[in-house]
Amino acid sequence: MTSTSSPQMLILLFFSFISLSSQSFSVYRLLPKTQTDFQAIQRLYKNATDHDLNFWKTGKDKHGFWDVMVELKNEKFLMDYLQINDISHVKTIEDVEKLISKHENNQTLSKMFPRLWDDSSSAHYDFHTYGSYQRMTDWMKQLVVKYPKMVQYISIGKTTEGRNIDGVEIGGDSRTKKIFWIDGGIHAREWAAPHTALFFIHQLTSRANEPGIKKLLEEITFVVVPCLNPDGYEFTRSSTNPHVRLWQSGTSDDPCSEIYQGPAPFSEPEAKAVRDALLSQRYKGRTDAYITLHTYSQIWIHPYGHKKDAYPGDIKDLYEVGKKAAQALKRVYGTKYVVGSGADTLYPASGGSEDWAKHEAKVKFVYLLELRPDEKNWDGFILDEKELIPTARETWEGVRVVAEAVLDRIVAQKASTPREAPKARGFRFGDGTEGSCFDVRHACKRWVQEREELCRTVPIFMRENCAYSFLLILTFIYERIQAIHNTDENSAFHNFKLIRINPETENSVKYLRSLYEDSSPYELDFWQPPTHIGAIVDLTVAPSDAPKFVRDLESKNINYIVAVNDLSKAIENERGSDKFYNPIAGFAYDKYNSLDEIHSEMKRLKKEYPTMITLIDIGQSHENRTLLVMKITGKRNPLGSKISMWIDGGIHAREWISPATAMYIAHELILGYENDATVAKLMDHIDFYILPVMNPDGYEYSREKNRMWRKNRSPAKCHRQTFSTVCCSGVDLNRNFDWFWASTGSSSDPCHDTYHGSSAFSEPESQAVRDFLEQNTPEAFISLHSYSQMWLIPYGHRKQSYPQDYHTGLRPLALRATKALYELYGTKYQVGTGADLMYEASGGSHDWAKGQLKVPYAYLIELRPKNTMMGHGFLLPEREIVPTGLETFESIKVVADELVAQFVEPVIRAKLSTTTRPSIPPYRRGYSIIDTTTMDPVEELAPVKKTFETSPPVKCMDYGDYCRLWGVLQLCYRDQVSKLCPKTCDSRCSFAV
Ligand SMILES: [Zn+2]
Repeated sequence: MTSTSSPQMLILLFFSFISLSSQSFSVYRLLPKTQTDFQAIQRLYKNATDHDLNFWKTGKDKHGFWDVMVELKNEKFLMDYLQINDISHVKTIEDVEKLISKHENNQTLSKMFPRLWDDSSSAHYDFHTYGSYQRMTDWMKQLVVKYPKMVQYISIGKTTEGRNIDGVEIGGDSRTKKIFWIDGGIHAREWAAPHTALFFIHQLTSRANEPGIKKLLEEITFVVVPCLNPDGYEFTRSSTNPHVRLWQSGTSDDPCSEIYQGPAPFSEPEAKAVRDALLSQRYKGRTDAYITLHTYSQIWIHPYGHKKDAYPGDIKDLYEVGKKAAQALKRVYGTKYVVGSGADTLYPASGGSEDWAKHEAKVKFVYLLELRPDEKNWDGFILDEKELIPTARETWEGVRVVAEAVLDRIVAQKASTPREAPKARGFRFGDGTEGSCFDVRHACKRWVQEREELCRTVPIFMRENCAYSFLLILTFIYERIQAIHNTDENSAFHNFKLIRINPETENSVKYLRSLYEDSSPYELDFWQPPTHIGAIVDLTVAPSDAPKFVRDLESKNINYIVAVNDLSKAIENERGSDKFYNPIAGFAYDKYNSLDEIHSEMKRLKKEYPTMITLIDIGQSHENRTLLVMKITGKRNPLGSKISMWIDGGIHAREWISPATAMYIAHELILGYENDATVAKLMDHIDFYILPVMNPDGYEYSREKNRMWRKNRSPAKCHRQTFSTVCCSGVDLNRNFDWFWASTGSSSDPCHDTYHGSSAFSEPESQAVRDFLEQNTPEAFISLHSYSQMWLIPYGHRKQSYPQDYHTGLRPLALRATKALYELYGTKYQVGTGADLMYEASGGSHDWAKGQLKVPYAYLIELRPKNTMMGHGFLLPEREIVPTGLETFESIKVVADELVAQFVEPVIRAKLSTTTRPSIPPYRRGYSIIDTTTMDPVEELAPVKKTFETSPPVKCMDYGDYCRLWGVLQLCYRDQVSKLCPKTCDSRCSFAV
């Protein structure tokens, strides 16, 4: 790992990269005649990766046909296979690369002359050629300058490689207008799609004064994201080598196959970005049309695509508008489109964004368009540049029909109350039922479920266990070359590794514990300390110590993986683009904000909602920052007094998702009061006290100085070691509360991350919280942390130590809360005490709240991500802030509702009751529905022996990412390679010559 950037290797990489270009590729069309033929081709398709076959097109039944690209060296295999099975075929493209050069890279005269039809202003895009992603975004930015009132630039997310996924909103800033969503380019090789989307932007902006367009823009805001997959697009542009140009990240269960669908719906950042945008406050409930552009086949597709004969309830509307659109399209140049569902016209495939948009996002008009050319044209994805404008123009006419249908609907809705659409036929999205993608390698699927980038981030591991296609290796090499070029030597955590360990023996646990508790010869930072066998340990190691440390682990037979190879990259990736929500005074709910930004947003909210919000300064930190609590409450107060709930965040500095979630909860409460009767009712009975940043000094320190800082910033204290005195600052505030203080799971060493301080409540931050809560004791206390997705119940200081109402109150409510959380996005939480689930730790604030302050419901929530195999630990990407906030709010509502049931409703009943009863037994919402057998989404209470799939013992593996790669590339015959990778090239191993 440390030697990856040596020049020798780089040269070798370039060599293997370039040498592939000399291969030639052809495309065959396979024409089944019988069901047997069809099945034989299907078998071929399922094993495509093994034979390096690149399917451009799949047939839906024995009447359809298939296009497959094959490399010269595999042509014989294909021919033999077709002959043995007696399948008719015809060669449609002799030399794919030649065709690419001819159609897509021709230096024609057109490039030398300015486009006459386009206006001559600075906002200019050449629609005659395939432009770079940079060119696309530059042009869109120019449009914002040119049309400041009409066009707004948006970023909906970030790709794996860190590119922004950008687009424009056209139609002004009104939040009441309907949204018409258009995206393109989710499949990298389908170049005509992003260009068609760009052309739509051009049509809408340059012709905004045409009566037809003007009418649309008055009622509709168009959101166009032309290129959803800029990583893939740029990669396919990087070479005319057909392997590169026609690379596709698509849908399949085999992570290494070209149609890999990702571990679950929306595991890909690009797809997630679309989902999050459509579900965002900005677009939610406003989107009436969703069009996603693909190539090729000339089909106008409506949902559903996962299964034949499955349709949404309003299929008639969808079909009729689609038919009309196809007719309008045809009138332009006579181009014929087929209209139907994806499953009926193509091949059933689940997980499509269009199905999701219809079924889950409840968008009315949803279409997937397969653009030119049609199936009779043999050039497939390689559409000639000269066809770009005609394609875009005709498609626009079709899209305009859909826009008019949206307009009609708006008019109709204004005229009458909307009629409920009949319910869609029941099916679960991407549930793997018949018609879903193939499950080729179960183990690979399982591993990749842990994290989508697995193939790339731990290539050794993946290639050891999963067959690997050339295509993915090419991607890998490409990324590596890029990574080497982009290396930023200056960043603080450059090349720090996040190592994830699965200790399988008592000795391993013991050894790791000694590293954690005693002094360690390595520079380690434990993110998840060792607890018991089978519980994942996360730690980071400095690059200088990494080789020694992993060799140490290997010698002790401890299983590990390198979860993050370069922490600085993960830190960069954590922060996404912030343009999506119009930032007010620098604050945005989908990014990690500074303390100043958080405080000014709180003040802004107070100004905007003076009757709902009070700001309370409960004290100062060591460095004199304010501990600012926001009290949020409903305007009504039917009983004359209210109960209360406390939520704090950011007690640990580096757990950034925690303050972000606290702010998101505040945001949902405030907005909910106007729009959601349930939320309004809760707020009319409950005062919510939210302290978003309980450790402001540490938080700022983690932003400015050390991303991995955990404690507060109390002045340095010194302690003596054998030969010297060491001084360190900071106290772990969540070990500083008065609950069995300093007895378990905390350290008396000021340099340790869990230093408990000089006494209980020695710190101004913990004092301030104590003093405030003693005066205002709430009915529920919730402290937000990250990470590992656990809902922790008191007590955490000792194993199997519980409050009296653990089984009757605390735990049943926790199960219901996490169930509600799970319902939103399927995020699973474990429920139990911290001591039982992880490790014993005394001095925790939630334990103190329950044990000393006698708060009925006290919890500590460890937010996303989960600490399984893959995941970024504390470095949760910004794009997950909103989903985390939304799902957590679901659970907060459950807790709040329980408080109302137990502490408010009895009072109401007593007031209403004429007979005076001395006491009314508390009523608990949970009782009737608590049935642990139906709780399967929630993982059950510990201590459970966690079963955990690990890699089988690795034998033929060298230390170093590239050895496996060279092995797969069969380069062991080279002296240099066999010298550098002796184990990989060992004659007993599969990659030896
Ligand atoms: Zn924490």
